[in-house]
Formats: sequence, C-alpha cells, structure tokens
Amino acid sequence: MIPAGVALGVLLEIVLLEGGARAAPADRVEQYLGLARATLERPITPAELEAAALSSAGVEDIAALFEQSLAASLTLQGGAVTPELGGEATLDGGRLRFVEYPDLLHSIVRRMVELKNDPKSLLDYLSQSPPGQRLLATTGGLHALLFQMTGPGGTNEDRRRTLDQVLASAVAVHFKTWSVDPEQQLEMIRQNDWNGRYVGFWHIHPPRWTASGYAAGIEPSLEDMKVAVEKGQFLTLVFQPDGFDLYDLSPLSEAQALELSRCRVIQYRSGDWARRFATGRTPAH
Ligand SMILES: [Zn+2]
Repeated sequence: MIPAGVALGVLLEIVLLEGGARAAPADRVEQYLGLARATLERPITPAELEAAALSSAGVEDIAALFEQSLAASLTLQGGAVTPELGGEATLDGGRLRFVEYPDLLHSIVRRMVELKNDPKSLLDYLSQSPPGQRLLATTGGLHALLFQMTGPGGTNEDRRRTLDQVLASAVAVHFKTWSVDPEQQLEMIRQNDWNGRYVGFWHIHPPRWTASGYAAGIEPSLEDMKVAVEKGQFLTLVFQPDGFDLYDLSPLSEAQALELSRCRVIQYRSGDWARRFATGRTPAH
C-alpha cells in the first residue's frame, strides 16, 4: 500500500503550485487529487499490484516502455545509451497505467550530440534556453571549451576529443537518468485524465546495449532508495533479457530505511519476452 503521508505530500505541492499560479479551475488537477482520496479509502495491496503487473496488459505495457527506451537510444563514442523513462502510475480497474513525463533535458542532450561537430551552433543552441544555459554552466568545462573552439584558436583534435568526453559525461548525467521538477509534473497532470487509485512515481532501468545483445538493467540505486523515501518514487522497472523485475520501494518509506532487501520485487520471466528482445538488432540511430 502507499503510505498516505507521502501521497499527500506530493499532492500538497501541487495544490500550492496551483494556488500560486492563480490558474482557472482545473478538472484534471481535481481528478488527480481524487486519486489520493480513493487510495486512502482503499489502499492498494501488494497482491493487487502484482496481479496488475503480471497480467497480459501489464506485461505488454512494460515491454513497450523498454522498447520505447531502445528506440530513443543515443549513439555516442561507438556505444548506444538507452534513456530512463519515468512518470506517475495509477491502478484503475485492475490495470496499471504508466503516465510518462518527458525529461526536458533528454531532448537537449540529444541535440547537443547532433551538433558536436559544429561548436558554434552548439554554443548558440545552448545559450538560447534557460535549461540549455544551465547545462552549459553545470557540465564541467563545457562553456570554456566551446568558447575556445569558437574563438581565434579554433578547434583541434585535442579539443574535439575533450568535447567528446564532456558530452559523454552530460549524457551519463542527464540522458541516462530520468528526473522531473514540480512544474513539469503539474503540466503533465493537466495533460492527462486521472482515474482509479494512486500508485506513485515510476521509472525504468532500461536494457543496456552490449556487443552480445541487450543486458539487464541495473537494480535500484542508493539514489533511487533515497528518492523513494523522500518523494514517494516507488516503482523501479528493471529490464531483464527474459522478463522484468518490478521493485516496489514503498516498504523503504514505511521503514525509513535504505535497504534494497526490504523492497518487494515482482518478477516476470517468459520465453516470449526473451524472443521479443533477442532479435540481435541494434537500437535505432
Ligand atoms: Zn533509478
């Protein structure tokens, strides 16, 4: 079950934002708030969560998330990097619904990699938007390097190699991982209809592309456990070559403990899944 305190904490943030923005009455925010009431009246049991995740619709929805990540992968320094996806989930009529919240930095990092051979365009592009400016300022050495490469000294092999390394670190920090801020959360709440009960935030640990095919995603990290306890980000869906492990981190919040062994793990394995993800095809791009 979802501890009421956490769900309500998230909702309170929304209500405050809504008030601060003086928005017109928003039905979808009302719908979203209704999830918490429904969940308090009838908490989601572990058995319900498991039945929904292992149903044919649940398995299909989860497989589709991993395929979506593979299709969005980014090739850099010869390897493909698969992005995490995430959002908030509900349980409605026995079906888990994973509403996806795009991480705005993913598209910016993708464009950075596309522009890496054109330092002037890359610098112009990043300077245009506040998130781009933040990436420029927080990606170690990037601003200074682009300044050099677009200045009188121009580019050389050393600087290109350094730029590749700096971009690789931006990809590792901002593209591999998923995060959302409260403004983006509110925007996505307004874009979706909400029915049923509230499960919590979710994110995937996608397949990792290796020479021999798709390898398992990593298990929930210490950071994931901290976020679960602090913000109620409970579901981590970990890819396996023959299925998935769905980690429900809500027991950590109840116990206020960062111990992976306390998580409930719902495992799915099947030959169909293994065949689906064993085609040996490389990710798109
Ligand atoms: Zn994670």
